[in-house]
Amino acid sequence: MTETLDHLFDRNVNWAHRKAAEDPTFFRRLAEQQAPDYLWIGCSDSRITANDVLGLDPGEVFVHRNIANIVHTSDMNILAVLEFAIEVLRVRHIIVTGHYGCGGVRRAMVEERGALVDHWLQPLSMYYRKHRAAFGAMAGDVQRFDRLCEINVEMQVRRVAATPLVENAWARGAALHLHGWIYGLHDGLLRDVGPHVSSVADRDALPTVDSCAHEATEPASAVRRHAAEAFSASAPDGTDAPCCGPSPPGFGPGTPQR
Ligand SMILES: [Zn+2]
Repeated sequence: MTETLDHLFDRNVNWAHRKAAEDPTFFRRLAEQQAPDYLWIGCSDSRITANDVLGLDPGEVFVHRNIANIVHTSDMNILAVLEFAIEVLRVRHIIVTGHYGCGGVRRAMVEERGALVDHWLQPLSMYYRKHRAAFGAMAGDVQRFDRLCEINVEMQVRRVAATPLVENAWARGAALHLHGWIYGLHDGLLRDVGPHVSSVADRDALPTVDSCAHEATEPASAVRRHAAEAFSASAPDGTDAPCCGPSPPGFGPGTPQR
C-alpha cells in the first residue's frame, strides 16, 4: 500500500496559511522573483537548515548542500549552483558553513575505506592523513575532530575561490565576498572561521591550507564576541583590555562554549 505522507501535506497547509496570515503578500512577492544576497554551501545534515539558522525567510538565501559541504571542482551540481548564483542571482556573499560533530568529517578520519562516500571525502581524508602528526599532537580526540571540521571549511572556501566562475566575477569587478563559518549543534550558534576572500589578491595572499593543521584557532560566536567587547568597554581605565588579558566570566580557557 502506498504511503501518502498526508501528515506532511497537512503541515504544509498549516505553514502556508500561517505565512499568508502573517503577511498577505508574502507568496505573491516570492512568486514574482527571488533576489537573495547569499549563497549558502552547507552540509546535508538534517539538523542544519540555512533559513532557520540565519533567521531568514524563503527567497533570502540560495542553498546548496552535500555531505560535509565539500566543494569538488568537477561536481556539475555545485558548479551549476555557483554559476546561477553568481551570474543570474548576482549574490554578494558565498558562505561555506560546516558544523561541529559532522559525520562526514568524522568518516574522513577513520581507516575504513571503500564506500562511495569515501571517494566524496577523499580531499579531506588525504589532508588528515598528510597531517596525522599535527593532529596527533592535539590535546584529544574532540580537539582533533573539531579542528578538522574547521579546516574543512577553510579548505572549501579556498576551493570556491579557485573556480573560474568566481575568478571571472572578480575580473569584471563584481562585489563577491567569500566567508567560512562553522555551526555548533550544541548551542545553535554560528562562528566565523574564515578565510574572508573578496578578490584574487585576497585568495593568493592566503597561507596554504596545509598551514592550518599547525595553527590553533578558537572561532568565536557573536554571543562570545559581544561579551568580550562589553568586557573591554568596561575596562577601568577606559582602554581596551589586552588580548592576553583575563577572559570575561564564563569564557575562559577550557570553557566548552565556543
Ligand atoms: Zn555534516
